[in-house]
Amino acid sequence: MSRVGEGHRERRMLWLMLAAILSGGVAGYYGGEAMQSVAWLGELFLTALKMMIVPLVAASIITGVAGLGNVRKLGRMGALSLGYYMSTTLIAVSIGLLMANLWQPGHGVEWKQASAPDIAHAGNIGVTDLILSLVHPNIIAAAADMKLLPLIVFCILFAAALSTLEQKGAAVVGFFEGVNGAMMVMVEWIMLLAPVGVFALIASKLGASGGGDAFLAQLAGLAKYALAVLSGLLTHALVLCLLLFLLARRSVMAYLGHLATPLMTAFSTASSSATLPLTMEAVSMAGVHDRARRFVLPLGATINMDGTALYEAVAVLFIAQAYGIELGFAQQVLVLLTATMAAIGAAGIPEAGLVTMVIVLGAVGLPLDGIGLILAIDWFLDRCRTTVNVFGDAVGAAVVGRWFGRA
Ligand code: ASP
Repeated sequence: MSRVGEGHRERRMLWLMLAAILSGGVAGYYGGEAMQSVAWLGELFLTALKMMIVPLVAASIITGVAGLGNVRKLGRMGALSLGYYMSTTLIAVSIGLLMANLWQPGHGVEWKQASAPDIAHAGNIGVTDLILSLVHPNIIAAAADMKLLPLIVFCILFAAALSTLEQKGAAVVGFFEGVNGAMMVMVEWIMLLAPVGVFALIASKLGASGGGDAFLAQLAGLAKYALAVLSGLLTHALVLCLLLFLLARRSVMAYLGHLATPLMTAFSTASSSATLPLTMEAVSMAGVHDRARRFVLPLGATINMDGTALYEAVAVLFIAQAYGIELGFAQQVLVLLTATMAAIGAAGIPEAGLVTMVIVLGAVGLPLDGIGLILAIDWFLDRCRTTVNVFGDAVGAAVVGRWFGRA
């Protein structure tokens, strides 16, 4: 398709997606439980996206790394990506801490006995567990369970090994080039489902939570906390726009125009992994350096979660304030470090941040039951932070792509 045709298609998609989000919100608001009847359409879209993740991540990383040519370049790309992602995550947590200190959302909260949801007891996660999660004894089982981090590590090593095999290696890389191309075509097909899928996901989720009145009541109960998280996410999104302009030298509006479909899909699915196929497609349309995109985006969708990191910082300070525990400067620095780690450890699936928050709560000695305090509106804040997570990944690809393209 020509550039003009692509631009036209993207604009049409943007309006369709906006209409889907708005009409989904209205339908869920007024339709309540009745909107469960369309839930299957959302499930269809979500499952189709998930179906693409494993082959796309594998083919994208293998061809991306193999295309770099040598291990030195891989090292530079890896270091650039990790350095950039870590820095933006630290900025995100700092903004979260700032907002929690400014808004003081937990002070004066009507304190009720809370209990931690079962998922929070799923297991305590420490630094060593995080390092151990880089490898898996059975790569097929890891792929089957959608454990992307060990899959990515395996694919990086596999591609690096292929590059030492010359001709034989090139044949295997050629095969994965074909797989990658086919995946991108299939993603375009699945994208046609996006407006209907987004409508159904939003309408059914809002409906399931009791419709508009119930949602507004939940939101009002935790209004200051929600405001602290949302204003933090907005501030961080603005910082990302600035980085996009200053470091990647891109027009923010044009890049956002390309990203409309993945960002709205992130909002409706609450999963950055499920959104990854669409982010890949959009960033490719935006003309980001191809090798960088193939390597940086899957890595970002797995370890770079700015929105999650920010939200964990606000949530932990909120819980401390609600329990009447004052966290001093040193303890807030501990929150900064552990929330960064917790966000890296969180999977790109709904409410994963709620589980890894255990790391942060444990580090500053707060009761896990505090998670119960913020549960009511987590499904909504999850969508907002996932949108920022995906935006952060896409900005990272543009920045690393520019640095790498010039190197
Ligand atoms: N749902 C988020 C994501 O997929 C992770 C989280 O914060 O729960 O990016």
